[in-house]
Amino acid sequence: MKTDYSDKLFAKAKDLFPGGVNSPVRAFKGVGGTPRFIAKGRGSRMWDVDGNAYLDYVGSWGPLILGHCHSDVMQAVQDALKEGSSFGAPSPREIRLGELVRQRMPWLERMRFCSSGTEATTAAIRLARGFTGRDDLLKFDGCYHGAGDPLLVKAGSGVETLGLPDSPGVPADLAKHTLTLPWNDLAAVERLFEKTGKTIAAVITEPVVGNMGVLVPKPGFLEGLARICKAHGALFIVDEVMTGFRLAMGGACGLYGLRPDLVTFGKVIGGGLPVGAFGGRADVMEKIAPAGPVYQAGTLSGNPLAMAAGTATLSELSEATYRKLEQLSADLAAGLAEAAAAAGAAVQVNRVGSMLTVFFSGEPVFDAASARKCDAKRFGRFFHAMLERGVYLPPSQFEAAFVSAAHSPEDIRTTIAAAREAFQEAVR
Ligand code: PLP
Repeated sequence: MKTDYSDKLFAKAKDLFPGGVNSPVRAFKGVGGTPRFIAKGRGSRMWDVDGNAYLDYVGSWGPLILGHCHSDVMQAVQDALKEGSSFGAPSPREIRLGELVRQRMPWLERMRFCSSGTEATTAAIRLARGFTGRDDLLKFDGCYHGAGDPLLVKAGSGVETLGLPDSPGVPADLAKHTLTLPWNDLAAVERLFEKTGKTIAAVITEPVVGNMGVLVPKPGFLEGLARICKAHGALFIVDEVMTGFRLAMGGACGLYGLRPDLVTFGKVIGGGLPVGAFGGRADVMEKIAPAGPVYQAGTLSGNPLAMAAGTATLSELSEATYRKLEQLSADLAAGLAEAAAAAGAAVQVNRVGSMLTVFFSGEPVFDAASARKCDAKRFGRFFHAMLERGVYLPPSQFEAAFVSAAHSPEDIRTTIAAAREAFQEAVR
């Protein structure tokens, strides 16, 4: 595969941007090699600047659940653009998207739009602290909640890919308020709350982890977190930035029957444009400025183009879409597992809905510690063998792959055929 133009652009990019990229995992550090510079995408495919075509299982890291350039989304953005790119004043499009969100999650009493998942989780944490008057926070090892200071502790995803323990620049005085425990270990949460429950403002979790690769919640884990929070007066925050509107109409909360105090969104809710949102209980949300004293704001919050893309995306997603995603993803997971077995590669294929990860491990992977035991070198060889065959997977063992509604059964068959050869290269 010829990659001269990508190589040339990466050399230039390194002179402009740290590591040559504007977000770390894009740099291929976890798998080696040079990132491909993407020229365009359509449906389930992307083309790089050298003209190579890829079946895309990254989907801009999750937002593109309808695939690239979905006609309704493109049209909605064009229509909105004709009216103006940003007003810095309330506009009707915010109401439209807000109502669509609430139709899907009727328990969401108030919400606020912002411009990224990081903004949403940062605000939710500040709000939980402001509401409870407590400073501590519990998050789980390997869960990523964006690049905000309080949450950049044992943060999975890009931090894990680069092998960074925690980020320099996060003051120790702040980080000490972020308590961490292994994910899926409810007994450990119970013990912690018995000891210091009165100081904990909130527990935040990914409902299905995507940022350590896909980890599936043990039965009762999420419900148990909700129960423990309630018993101790802490808020339960479900970070649905990745899972929201991806796993089901009502997100992971719908799937698992959760009613958290606060929930955060990003990715799919913006249909590929920069959006985040947080929301939940009215009595908590009414503490946000200007209704209340907890400050949160954004110049481009509720941006009309982003609202239009989000509205078009959510309007297109029906129960039939989720059934299709489930079928395609189940076929892909089964095909990958079978291809790995045929090649003698020990793998675990973890999947919930259209999020999946092939872990190079002979043991079940259910938390950060078991994910870290995977053979990341083998994953790197598998990744490159797939890339050479025109399949673009996330360039890290610690990320989720996403199936979109634009993928076809033929795409899935092509991917599995590529994997049969790629697994053989990975174990060589
Ligand atoms: N929360 C989760 C669960 C995420 O997966 C991400 C991003 O990957 C974020 C928060 C941060 O979102 P953003 O990258 O839009 O700031």
